[in-house]
This record gives sequence, C-alpha cells and structure tokens, in this order.
Amino acid sequence: MNIYRCACGNPVYFENDQCLACGRRLGFLPERLTQAALEPLPGGNDLWRAHTPEGEMGEYHRCRNYSEQNVCNWMVVSDNGERYCVACRMNRIIPNLDRPGNRDKWLNVEREKRRVIYDLLRLGLPFLAKRDDPHTGLAFAFMEDQQPTQEFVDSSWSGGKVFTGHAKGLITINIIEADDAAREALRQQLNEASRTLLGHFRHEIGHYFWDRLILEGGRLAGFREVFGDERQDYQSSLRRHYQQGPPANWQQHYISAYAAAHPWEDWAECWGHYLQITDALETAHALDMGVSLPRDFDELIRVWSRVSININLMNRSMGMRDAYPYVLNDSVVAKLRYIHEVVEAERSA
Ligand SMILES: [Zn+2]
Ligand SMILES: [Zn+2]
Ligand SMILES: [Zn+2]
Repeated sequence: MNIYRCACGNPVYFENDQCLACGRRLGFLPERLTQAALEPLPGGNDLWRAHTPEGEMGEYHRCRNYSEQNVCNWMVVSDNGERYCVACRMNRIIPNLDRPGNRDKWLNVEREKRRVIYDLLRLGLPFLAKRDDPHTGLAFAFMEDQQPTQEFVDSSWSGGKVFTGHAKGLITINIIEADDAAREALRQQLNEASRTLLGHFRHEIGHYFWDRLILEGGRLAGFREVFGDERQDYQSSLRRHYQQGPPANWQQHYISAYAAAHPWEDWAECWGHYLQITDALETAHALDMGVSLPRDFDELIRVWSRVSININLMNRSMGMRDAYPYVLNDSVVAKLRYIHEVVEAERSA
C-alpha cells in the first residue's frame, strides 16, 4: 500500500476520510490509485473537486456507501452515472444492519474488501462487476449464520450456516470472520498459522482469477505442471482433508496445510500470498524502509525474505505473534513464480 499526501502536505493513509492536520475531507480515487483532498462544490449535490499534490483531478461524488453509510471512502467520477464506487458496485448482499454488532462487522468487511480491490487495481488485473457481466463478473455477499426462529424450525431447516467461499464469481463472506474473538477461535480449532479477513478476500478472489486467467486464459497445461491435476474430485478431496488432515510432509510442498487439500486450494492459498507479499513490499517501499519494489521475481523473493523477518522481529518486540508465520520452500517459490508470470503477462496484455 502506498502513503499519500493531503493538499496541505500532511501524510494520509488509505483508510482515512479526513486529514487530521487541516481537517479537509478526503476521498480515494480508484482510477488514479490515490487519496485526494476534497473541496465541496456549490449546489448541495455532494459534488466535490479533488486535489492531490500533483494538481486538480476533476469533479467527483462520494460513493453512496460513503455519503450515506460512512463505510467507504472511495469516489466516483461525477459524470459516469454510477452511485457506488467500483468496489461497492459489486456488493450483492450486505448484513442486516438492524441486528446489533452488524454495522461494525460490515465496516471491517468493507475496509478489507477495498484493500483486495486495490490489489487488483495496482496489479492491473482484469475484473468486472457481475451487474455488468453476469457470466464473468464479480460480486460479494456478506452474510451471517441464520438462527432458527419459531417459524423456521421445520423439516426443511438446513442449519442456516453460511460458508465463506467462491462460486462462479460470487464471493460469500460469513461476517463472523469480522469478529476478532470468533475468528481466533476458528483459527485455533483449524490449527492455522494465521487467519485474517483480508486473507479470506485474497484467497477467494484467487478462485475467481483461476476461472478467468487459467481456465478461460488457456493456461491449464502450465497450471497442472506446477500445481497438479485439478480434475481429481474436489468434494472428496476436501472431505479427505477434513477427516484425515494433510499429508505428514505437507510443509515441504505447500504454503499451508489447507493448500494440500486440492490444486484449486493450493492455487488460492498461493495467490493470496502473492497479493500479501507484493502489497507488503509496496508498503515497505512507501515507508522509505530502504526496500526496492522489484518486478524481477527472484529479487522480489530475496527482498521479501528480508522484510518478512524484520516484520516478525518487530512483532516480537511488541509481544505479538509473528505477522508472517510461513516458510517459503522451493515448491512454494515455484508456485509463486508461476503466479507472478501469469500476473505480469496479464498486466502487459
Ligand atoms: Zn490536510
Ligand atoms: Zn464504495
Ligand atoms: Zn478456497
């Protein structure tokens, strides 16, 4: 993630909607990947002129989830006819805001969703809203487990559980994952090194891009060479994983135990790591930590192993667990290299 500057020169961050130094309202301009200071235009139509240190950026209105709900800080070009920003246009289901606690969870979900959309924009990856293309578009459903009510308890009641996952471009997130205590309990139960809301978004969007870049992109042969044959039955692979656990030597071949369940999960886990690594390196670069932002893959891995150790040591100083509790073995590096090459080919296409 980059660090931005307000029109007054003060550093401002991706999540900010106001400059703490001068009080100007801020909005993120997704097509320019920058924060901008907003100057209200007369007329009361939520029209604003956007200013960055590089100059004036034109007229915008705030995303409706910004102006009405305050859960977004992204802007929409004033004349494009859209009420929602590029990230919020993909929301299909949002939580029931009448239920206590759901607004806070939704706020967390939206913040992490914007980070993953930022990942896609900074890498120049192609995506569309499902609203614009029902077949290849992307949409989000943010849902919670349904509690049985009196009317509901009958023979058709299926338990009301919501599973975080991806199906044909629809990414479902169970908003319980936005609750720190509940998510930590799940992490321990599933024996995972780390479990974050952002990690879920990055993993699930990996499944979306497998469809786009591997299946439709004509890359199946190359994928199978690196990740194995995905035609092995998916449901029985997952069942085996949950019943028997991963193979004993999984750490020599996979980034996580779950990645060993099926080549699709391996891809999604590695994809999530690729987004995480490249985002963290951009942040280290923007913070002037003496880190280059390499396009060359070997250099990228070399820089990341140094940076990730530094982050872990910082965390230990703060009495916290390692932020990056992973080991990149040769097999995982080969998978990340493949993903890097696919992404680079797409961004230059
Ligand atoms: Zn300012
Ligand atoms: Zn928005
Ligand atoms: Zn998955």
